[in-house]
Amino acid sequence: MSSVLSLIRLDLRDFAGYKSARSEALRGDVWLNANESAWANPADAEGRSRRYPDPQPPALRARLAQLYGVTPEQLLVGRGSDEAIDLLVRALCVPGQDAIVVTPPVFGMYAVCARLQGARIAEVPLVDGETGFAADLDAIREAALAQGAKLVFLCSPSNPAGSAIPLDAIAALARALEGKALVVVDEAYGEFADSASATTLLAAHANIAVLRTLSKAHALAAARIGVVIGDADLVAVLQRCQAPYPVPTPCADLALDGLSDAALAQTRERVALVRSERERLLPALQRSPGVRRVYPSQGNYLLARFDDAERAFRTLLAAGVVVRDQRAAPQLGDALRITVGSPSQNDRVIAALDAQEQAA
Ligand SMILES: *Cc1c(COP(=O)(O)O)cnc(C)c1O
Repeated sequence: MSSVLSLIRLDLRDFAGYKSARSEALRGDVWLNANESAWANPADAEGRSRRYPDPQPPALRARLAQLYGVTPEQLLVGRGSDEAIDLLVRALCVPGQDAIVVTPPVFGMYAVCARLQGARIAEVPLVDGETGFAADLDAIREAALAQGAKLVFLCSPSNPAGSAIPLDAIAALARALEGKALVVVDEAYGEFADSASATTLLAAHANIAVLRTLSKAHALAAARIGVVIGDADLVAVLQRCQAPYPVPTPCADLALDGLSDAALAQTRERVALVRSERERLLPALQRSPGVRRVYPSQGNYLLARFDDAERAFRTLLAAGVVVRDQRAAPQLGDALRITVGSPSQNDRVIAALDAQEQAA
């Protein structure tokens, strides 16, 4: 048994979860144990969706494990990494008692899941410095210890700030919080980053978990496939807290096709294109009228501050370009987040902002 299991809620440690019709290894050729139809739906020519799926479709789990360089037992497939965030908070945080640490401005789902669970939220703001926003690892450690936090959510590359956290700093944090908290590294944008994945730290640190997704670089947001990677015992506990059949067969099939060697080769080309477009867009934006600051980014987006963010947002909208308004986020009252698109889409962003001054 691994030490990370001591972080699981006491009342869930022997929780068996739902025993589905697919959870037992039974043998037979007439399956009458799950009240499924004996016939395929007319829309489902091959009858692929007639039966409940395996809770963790083995081929998909194996392919994802290979992609991320871990074993299948270290990885749980779910409905996007959003589901993994929810499972982690539910399995580790006792409602009304335990806490999580987040680093605003940051992706909102950590706090949403904590609120739903009745977990406290300790905020350690990112520090806006010369090289961009950075996580304050010392303050995160102190807050986690002072609040008795069970989970620390690190977003690397950070959405929306764009910065990545050095792996040695993540390792040091995990060491300091060993036996006390799980350090969750959300790598939704890991494919676009220069640095290696925190999965390389798993062998030395049982209290690290890594989130990956097919929603961003792999262009399969609607398939809702994401994973949590970590200690195999932790993964087994999370699976028992998960819905009985979380991975729809059409989604699993699509994801497997989307991870074929040919598809992966194309995905990697597109990631390279996004990275080069990102480096082109950054100085172009920086030169645009009304732009105060553009943050360097390890993701497929750029965060920019404007003299008048409202006006820039409307200017882009009038040109048919919809970007993410960040003004409600802490420290980002003048900021927009712009996803790096295709070269022609990026040209439209620049053209719209450049045209703005001539009108002014
Ligand atoms: C988009 C995003 C996610 C959600 O990913 P899904 O797998 O689609 O649920 C998770 N974390 C961050 C930081 C994101 O930006």
